[in-house]
Amino acid sequence: MGQTIAEKILSLHAGKNVTPGELIIANIDAVMVQDGTGPLAVNEFKKLNKTKLFNPERTILFIDHAAPSPRKELSNSHSVLREFAKEYGAVLSEIGEGVCHQRLVESYINPGEVLLGADSHTCTSGALGAFATGVGSTDIAVVMALGKTWLKVPATYKIVLEGEFQKGVYAKDLILHLIGLIGADGATYKALEFTGNAVKNLTMSERFTISNMAVEAGAKAGLFETDEKTYEYLKEQGRADKFKEIKADTDAKYERVININLSELKPTISCPHTVDNTKTIDELEHVEINQVYIGTCTNGRIEDLRIVAKILKGNKVKEGVRLLVAPASRKVFLEALKEGLIETFVEAGASIVTSGCGACVGVHAGILGDGEVCLATQNRNFKGRMGNTEGFIYLSSPATAAYSAIKGYIADVREVL
Ligand code: SF4
Repeated sequence: MGQTIAEKILSLHAGKNVTPGELIIANIDAVMVQDGTGPLAVNEFKKLNKTKLFNPERTILFIDHAAPSPRKELSNSHSVLREFAKEYGAVLSEIGEGVCHQRLVESYINPGEVLLGADSHTCTSGALGAFATGVGSTDIAVVMALGKTWLKVPATYKIVLEGEFQKGVYAKDLILHLIGLIGADGATYKALEFTGNAVKNLTMSERFTISNMAVEAGAKAGLFETDEKTYEYLKEQGRADKFKEIKADTDAKYERVININLSELKPTISCPHTVDNTKTIDELEHVEINQVYIGTCTNGRIEDLRIVAKILKGNKVKEGVRLLVAPASRKVFLEALKEGLIETFVEAGASIVTSGCGACVGVHAGILGDGEVCLATQNRNFKGRMGNTEGFIYLSSPATAAYSAIKGYIADVREVL
């Protein structure tokens, strides 16, 4: 019987043909932690009394969530990761280098690999045709020691994308639409496989945005087959030799098939306090905003920043609104500087914050005040997500966020495009 992308990759890593629902032991290619989850993983690893990592070059520790540190306790957590990297030879991604998931696709993960991460949005790397998923810190400790883990093979939902985006509609609107359609638990422990004629037109940046949010529907992974766009992306990152053809068999079996015509989508907003609480911009009531946050592993890439700059150019952020921009990585930051995008942001009245998670995780650099409303390009809007349970978070595409920053309320970006 034919296999889906997830089944194919996991079969290769389990050394046998796997089927959905089966418990397997899989070999893992790479493992990651970040500064929130890493210290616990490091402690658990030490309890295993192992003297070596299974593969130091592919054990990557990111300091991105509280970077730079706003508190001495977090500074001490950072020290734990730095000392561990030094002692065991693991790779360390320091403050300012960027958000873990952006750094992973830029520099570390390749098609056909299995990546386990102590962070839920590890699924971002699925856009490269890798089976990438988040697990807890204790599971990560075992993988760091053995290079293996147990996994239940997920059944796959096939998401068939046809048509073309209308002006003002982007990949973020698509994934918010899908999550609104199936619900925050609509794909629990499934693999989402994105396919259809529209996929070839999606840039890698758009695919990363889509894979990144697969977990917001409960999915274990969000996968794309590889193609010329994957190859070009890897080539740009200096890893053309890592390209591999990854695709599902034509007779693969899917648990569910969902068809989406991109031309029917509208700018979509996720309203407080769950990601699946979505409305199209036409359905949304008038919502005044205090803060706009553009960045994160969902929408902080150079392509996102180019769209934002196009909308902000020659305009000013509305008085009373704070606009924060965090390029997803140092590489993105440098490119944005080179292209003059940062100048456009600053002239418009934006504050630029360190490449990293910043306000998204609610630890620093943009915590909301009581009753304040933020429109953000991140992937989550749970109560308290941005550091205050009395705050209100709406999610949108970077284009909607930029235009709304100028207007002072959540606005329909189609008006200016
Ligand atoms: Fe998590 Fe936000 Fe950081 Fe992404 S940017 S890894 S969602 S905290």
